[in-house]
Amino acid sequence: MWPAIEKGLEDVFLSGKFSHGKQVGHLESALAAYTGARHVIGVNSGTDALVLLLRACGLRPGDGVLVPAYSFFATASAVVLAGGRPQFVDIDPETYAMDPVALEAAVTDSSRFVMQVHLFHTMADLEAVTAVARRHGLTVVEDSAEAIGMRRGGVHAGLHGAGGVLSFFPSKTLGALGDAGAVLTDDPEVAGTVAALRHHGRPGRTLNNFPAISTDSVWPGVNSKMDDIQAAVLLAKLPLLEEQIEHRAALADAYTARLKGTPGILRLPRTTAQGPGDRDVFYVYLIEVEDRDALVDHLDRHGIGTEVYYPLPLPHQPAFAGLGHRPGDFPNAEAASRHAVALPFHADLDTGDVDRVCDTVRSFLAARRTAV
Ligand SMILES: *Cc1c(COP(=O)(O)O)cnc(C)c1O
Repeated sequence: MWPAIEKGLEDVFLSGKFSHGKQVGHLESALAAYTGARHVIGVNSGTDALVLLLRACGLRPGDGVLVPAYSFFATASAVVLAGGRPQFVDIDPETYAMDPVALEAAVTDSSRFVMQVHLFHTMADLEAVTAVARRHGLTVVEDSAEAIGMRRGGVHAGLHGAGGVLSFFPSKTLGALGDAGAVLTDDPEVAGTVAALRHHGRPGRTLNNFPAISTDSVWPGVNSKMDDIQAAVLLAKLPLLEEQIEHRAALADAYTARLKGTPGILRLPRTTAQGPGDRDVFYVYLIEVEDRDALVDHLDRHGIGTEVYYPLPLPHQPAFAGLGHRPGDFPNAEAASRHAVALPFHADLDTGDVDRVCDTVRSFLAARRTAV
């Protein structure tokens, strides 16, 4: 992989064009081919991709956007940055995505959008969410920042509604050497608007034939252009993505085989992919345990790094305190925040590493049980 990355970086240095140049256009085309999206618009992060997507889909100041109570911060902050108001919805404990029944109950007169989120290892239920959206005249967008490679019925994540996003933050399944992101959409008007908004409102470059749309007075454009260096890195890594996704699936199987039935584990990840056009991708391997914080400390003492996704439900974060939510309002989100932990997981691990992690997890849980 390194020779390809080096070659890509050299091309950028020799071109002297470091921002918003040819490499970005090539990456957009390659990602359109990979995802099947009619349009891919490269931007500087997944967060900005969400903000620009919401604006391009016609969000007006004060519009309600239904979002899950449990997700990465940017799911909700992007709504505020775009001028909207997050309306939080509890999650399905199995998929960690917005629960369609709770969604229907949370719709108000000011709701205009639903932002479904695909987290960790499986795609959210979009059929039920889309049915609710249709009944209430809401536009569906997807925070598919973690979901590269995931498909339902042959359609890639992010393309089941008005549009979606990808994040190329270094730890994501396809990671750059810094920040980068993209908007995915089949709608030429949305594509043209995002292409203008990312560059101070100037109509998009012609390389990928974005419709030349000047953004109107509602939203001034911003500077959210993608760096060519990141585009070159991603172009070099993209051909290896499918192989890495297969390796990730094998690692996840190895984890599940070793942890299944272990007393003290409340939940192991389960994919909901069923048909031939359905595919899930393990971005992280997340388990739930009763005594999460003690397990994290124990693994840390044994040199095993973990990541707690997500330690505080979004409605309880200081940025959204003004909405007045109380503990107990989102029981499933709160339970996930208390119990979920991601074990070491990336494409360079092998099953020997998985064995070591699982032995340490199991011996900790066994010792807790005897101690009780
Ligand atoms: C990573 C991520 C984002 C934001 O992407 P950045 O590129 O880090 O800005 C948004 N939503 C979810 C669910 C994410 O995991």
